Amino acid sequence: MAFADKYMGALSATNLLDDNLRHQAEPLQAAALADRAARDIGALIHRVKYAGTVVQKLAHAVAASERAEKALADAVRKKDVRKQDELRPVVEANAATCAMAGSDAAAFRTLYARWREIVEQKGRERNWIKPADWPKIGHLAPALYRRVAEHSLAHYLDDVCKTCNGTGALGLKPILRTCTSCAGARREPIGKAVDLGISSYEAKLVADMVGELAALEQTHAGVAGARLRHAE
Ligand SMILES: [Zn+2]
Repeated sequence: MAFADKYMGALSATNLLDDNLRHQAEPLQAAALADRAARDIGALIHRVKYAGTVVQKLAHAVAASERAEKALADAVRKKDVRKQDELRPVVEANAATCAMAGSDAAAFRTLYARWREIVEQKGRERNWIKPADWPKIGHLAPALYRRVAEHSLAHYLDDVCKTCNGTGALGLKPILRTCTSCAGARREPIGKAVDLGISSYEAKLVADMVGELAALEQTHAGVAGARLRHAE
């Protein structure tokens, strides 16, 4: 039975206090949860996603700062002055971008904070760190959740394929061929883990969370669309 049918069935059930109470209430709860999920962050996702390049720059700077800072600290430890001179402006530019003022940046920070909470919750529920491994590497969990949140949000906010500009095709009419980078999907592929400065395991989690963001946006659009139709 499709969710919509279950949902309608639950809505029209005359007696919710029968044996099937829990069963019938499930679609209602699911709908309420979806609605809440979308309202908590959905509107904000829309607001930030379509704010434009300023927010995209900010999201990339947030995601890139840990790696740049680590590289600089490494150069300081190794007393590599040339590398320090090279990296310091990068770190400073990143910090300046991260400190950006304005309402778009403020909306981004709110979304980023909420997204981090959601990612941490999902990470715990899905045992990104296996229960057996907690005693040994549990202390690494907060940084893992943060990196996955940063990189997934940065990718999601700037996900139009760079090679074809989101058209899915290369070349000129009539000799169009499928974009070699996105294979026609119009979405920028998630970069290689090594280029992002994260592990391949983290890159897989980032891909999952990009999917979650897209699903939240869709949920929000669906709920908002239904409300609009209802209000007509
Ligand atoms: Zn493409």
